[in-house]
Amino acid sequence: MTDTVTAPLATDIGAYRSSLRAYLANGDALDRWRGKHYASTEDRIGEHAALMAHLYEDGWNRYGWPASAGGLGGDERHRGVLYDELSAAGLPVPDPQLMLETLGPPVVHFAPELAARYLPEYLRGENWWGQGFSEPEAGSDLAGLRCRARREGDHYVLSGQKLWTSHGATASRFVCLVRTGTTESRHRGLSMIMVDRDTPGVSVRPIALASGYQELAEVFFDDVIVPADRLVGEEGQGWAVAMYLLQWERAMYAWQSAAVALRRFRELLGQVAGGDLPDGAATRIGECYGDIVALRARSVQTVRRLAAGQTVGPEASVDKVLLATAELSLHDLARDLLGAGFVFGTDADTGDWRADWWFSRSATILGGSAEVQRTILADHVLGLPKEPRV
Ligand SMILES: Cc1cc2nc3c(=O)[nH]c(=O)nc-3n(C[C@H](O)[C@H](O)[C@H](O)COP(=O)(O)OP(=O)(O)OC[C@H]3O[C@@H](n4cnc5c(N)ncnc54)[C@H](O)[C@@H]3O)c2cc1C
Repeated sequence: MTDTVTAPLATDIGAYRSSLRAYLANGDALDRWRGKHYASTEDRIGEHAALMAHLYEDGWNRYGWPASAGGLGGDERHRGVLYDELSAAGLPVPDPQLMLETLGPPVVHFAPELAARYLPEYLRGENWWGQGFSEPEAGSDLAGLRCRARREGDHYVLSGQKLWTSHGATASRFVCLVRTGTTESRHRGLSMIMVDRDTPGVSVRPIALASGYQELAEVFFDDVIVPADRLVGEEGQGWAVAMYLLQWERAMYAWQSAAVALRRFRELLGQVAGGDLPDGAATRIGECYGDIVALRARSVQTVRRLAAGQTVGPEASVDKVLLATAELSLHDLARDLLGAGFVFGTDADTGDWRADWWFSRSATILGGSAEVQRTILADHVLGLPKEPRV
């Protein structure tokens, strides 16, 4: 697909959607990724990366990204439509696209040279990135992080640890929030920097989840030398970059989750159709659909605002709260409708529901816990008064 042929699709979102839909409907080659079950995270992410390569080859996942970073133009709506249409066609949203939505926009905005150098290979599924923010003593209190980067001439020397890095076991690069100021400098002394996994001194320890899948990892940095031109933004600007990033982490991840949840909801209904359902099943099904659609309705507004270049800021926490509600609702529904089979079933479909149920428990934690999101909304969106002290 050439840039000349595709250019109109970058400015006409309706035409992009219908062309993509036709492409997905006719692409037998895509059957390789339909209804598949994977035994390990490594298998799944590798196959999903192959789907990205396929989509890149035909141009589709290049929309929504600037030409300077390997894209074909367009905005967040194009990426949203891609996730919608993949899900509607029974295809997965490729795992590496999840972190791409969190890390791609800040790198494009604050480090266009790094985006030009590395984003095309990400879009081609050749490698992907992990987000190195959380540490053992710094999750909700992110400004307390300790992983240090010391400037020495034209490079930094990194020492410390990151924890809960999604896709950390397979990522080729880590976008890390590190301390370049004094220990007491809190959010003022932070910087964001991109580190290659194969740099001497980087070691990765995968974390096995309750499902058995190794989705996350601990990442250790032992005097790792990183060129200064790997900074995302200026030194000391890390907090501002992180706040910019969180808008996409909370909003685009919510959109992707809604798209996938709608597909999984349909699949669940297909799976239980004709069987005995527990009392109250119809009500539960209706409530769950309502939870997913509420997320989706909110998400449409947010993605439009991001696409228009508006600052969503702390309001993205609404999307995050609705996302967690929908994720819990869907997977609890699956558990209850599948009944004893959910616990004892040995078929691959049930195995996927069980693994997804375990993962859905983290929806109120990842990307910032539900309690913290509600505090952000109370303080920064609703402007509620502080709790009175006695
Ligand atoms: C599946 C998954 C994927 C993740 N992926 C990544 C990733 O890719 N990169 C990354 O950097 N991190 C990642 N994380 C980490 C995630 O961001 C943190 O787990 C989260 O921010 C919470 O931090 P914590 O685990 O240190 O818990 P803590 O901050 O220790 O919180 C523990 C409990 O205390 C509550 N709490 C803490 N502070 C307050 C407060 N001020 N007010 C009210 N309640 C409070 C929290 O709500 C929570 O219930 C991931 C986590 C999970 C579960």
